[in-house]
Amino acid sequence: MKDYAVLRFNALKELGHRKVERFYQEEGKVTDYFAINVFDREKMRAYFTAGAFEAVAAAIDEGKKIDRKVADQIAAGMKTWAIERGATHYAHWFHPLNDATAEKHDAFFEPTKDSKLVENFKGELLVQQEPDASSFPSGGLRNTFEARGYTAWDPSSPIFIVDGTLCIPTVFVSYTGEALDLKTPLLKSQQVIDKAATEVCQYFDKEVTKVYPTLGVEQEYFVVDDAMFNARPDLMLTGRTLMGHTSAKDQQLDDHYFGAIPMRVSAFMKDFETESYKLGIPIKTRHNEVAPHQFEFASSFEEANLAVDHNLLVMSLMKRIAKRHRLKVLFHEKPFAGVNGSGKHCNWSLRTNTGKNLLSPGKTPRNNLQFLTFFINTICAAHNHGYLMMASVANLSNSYRLGGHEAPPSMLSVFLGQTLSGVLDSLEERVSEKKMTPDEKTELKLDVVGKIPEILPDNTDRNRTSPFAFTGNRFEFRAVGSSCNPASPVLIINAAVAEQLVRFKNDVDKLITDGVKKDEAIFQVLRSYIIESKPIRFEGNGYSEEWHEEAKRRGLREINDIPESFKAFLLPESQKMFNETGVLSNIELDARFEIRNETLVKKLQIEQRVLGDMALNHIIPTAIRYQNLLIENIKGLKEIYTSEEFKEFAQPQLRTLKRISRHIKDLREKVYEMVDERKKANLIEDIEKRAKVYWNNIFPYLDSIRYHIDKLERIVDDSLWPLPKYREILFLH
Ligand code: ADP
Ligand code: MG
Repeated sequence: MKDYAVLRFNALKELGHRKVERFYQEEGKVTDYFAINVFDREKMRAYFTAGAFEAVAAAIDEGKKIDRKVADQIAAGMKTWAIERGATHYAHWFHPLNDATAEKHDAFFEPTKDSKLVENFKGELLVQQEPDASSFPSGGLRNTFEARGYTAWDPSSPIFIVDGTLCIPTVFVSYTGEALDLKTPLLKSQQVIDKAATEVCQYFDKEVTKVYPTLGVEQEYFVVDDAMFNARPDLMLTGRTLMGHTSAKDQQLDDHYFGAIPMRVSAFMKDFETESYKLGIPIKTRHNEVAPHQFEFASSFEEANLAVDHNLLVMSLMKRIAKRHRLKVLFHEKPFAGVNGSGKHCNWSLRTNTGKNLLSPGKTPRNNLQFLTFFINTICAAHNHGYLMMASVANLSNSYRLGGHEAPPSMLSVFLGQTLSGVLDSLEERVSEKKMTPDEKTELKLDVVGKIPEILPDNTDRNRTSPFAFTGNRFEFRAVGSSCNPASPVLIINAAVAEQLVRFKNDVDKLITDGVKKDEAIFQVLRSYIIESKPIRFEGNGYSEEWHEEAKRRGLREINDIPESFKAFLLPESQKMFNETGVLSNIELDARFEIRNETLVKKLQIEQRVLGDMALNHIIPTAIRYQNLLIENIKGLKEIYTSEEFKEFAQPQLRTLKRISRHIKDLREKVYEMVDERKKANLIEDIEKRAKVYWNNIFPYLDSIRYHIDKLERIVDDSLWPLPKYREILFLH
């Protein structure tokens, strides 16, 4: 048996059925332990003084600043709770600009002057911490010699305990105040959309005083055996396989989707779900996905900032908990060529303090006019910034998935479904720019607006090929990659919709000032937006060739050149939106642009180094061994047979030998060529230019090198092949 197979065999023996079953023993009802590791409102009330509780509640509900003086009381309450729950350390938990989360752990205890240990945790630690920030991506925002970044508690996301550490969700900003994270702009985008949407709601409902975006995440992932994973340097170092091909049977029978979940995976799921429930994370569904070993979970929607934190938290929990099961979770968008990749569908909507979903049609024409207002403005926002939305999820790993025949195409369009497309068409036709008669207005309200069904039939008629689809009471952004921090796209949707709502309010108010009645003004403005945003609407098959042609005609920009797409952040209309909403300054945008380019170069460099090493250290030596076996065999045949017989019987070996020799030669040449190209590219100072050269000149080597390796994998004796193949990795029991 090969080494990795022995390792897997031993691990399975050790895990055994009893151990796997242990994880089935849930700790009572979910409601008994839901959120026990979260310091939620109820616990705050119990552990805080009245003053401290009020201060925190005002910070959560109204975004008020917490006074320094109460901070100590707050910290004391948190510490008492955490220590009672067995925590020994605390950490500021934040999202640096690399789709990961970071934390720095400090122990609660501190020595006093007389060398005794006391447990300490002061308010100042809550408000501000200075982690050594030099090794997080900053895009030139922070001089490394200063290495200063500050973290401060985000009270809208509750603190929690993981593994004996009290984790405090924080923002992460530079010494000069620029955001070094994704949470800061996300929180800003929530404030602006709250303001803009609340103002628009006043046309319809004076009781609305707060609007917040909601987010429900569907997360896809792969699970593989960790012995297999550890035997593949490419999976370990890049998160995906850089070589290998699908075996005779993969997903073609469609027998994995919604099939029975393998027992080991199901034990793993129960385990991480239990831990998630303890952290108050409402995971709702689990099922198999299309590819072998691919799965999905979805959480109930929550306020967006909390949903983002929860998504990132579950991802890190899953990685940790998989270890207990001798499994590895892969969040890479395309770990295996030839089978489906993984996405992270971001379901987005707006909710009011009165509990109304603004993207849900209502019972009355009045409610429906409000629904249409938010619906049409969101479509318009997608039309204004569709390219930027796609760019926000464009990176190397997602580029392997987008545009394939499994994931949304790489240009944005919006799917509405038949019913609502019909409503928009009727509005366009029947609203007049001239003053409407009372009869016309009544008819419009009754016939069009009043007839929107509360539950849309299109809810079930799903168009899965659309990157931004309306699904009955929310928009679903499907282009997001499985490893992406959902804050990236969500903050852009928030900002784009906020900008659009401000514009809507201005346009309507202007008409009202000119003497047009309110409802008529709203109808007129909506009609103009329907016309304006038409190019972004598409109901057909997004995977089809015709759509690509059609999209081009409509002027929709496709993302196929990743470094080019990063410029979407620097477009005048993007800068205007970010600046006017205050979500990101130009300095912060420049920094993000630089980080994206830098990350692309680094990731490509790593993939290429790993591929080069594997080609030279694993593949070529193995191919040579087989080459020698063949040579020996051919020599033997020559000794035994007459030259006539030799000609006949040595034919297949000679042919294989020739093919192997050619692949070895070409492979070696390509690897050296790639290294030379990279050396040249690394001399380019300007990061934007370097990323372009990496993308255009060096990126293609990944495929051309892989070509030879995959050919060799098919020819070389399986018992010599040192790496587990797809058929071994994608087979779990
Ligand atoms: P379906 O099975 O039709 O996809 P689900 O109810 O499973 O519908 O929802 C899929 C995802 O959409 C879940 O993550 C859910 O939380 C989310 N979702 C539902 N309603 C909203 C909403 N109003 N805002 C944001 N996300 C939502
Ligand atoms: Mg889905």
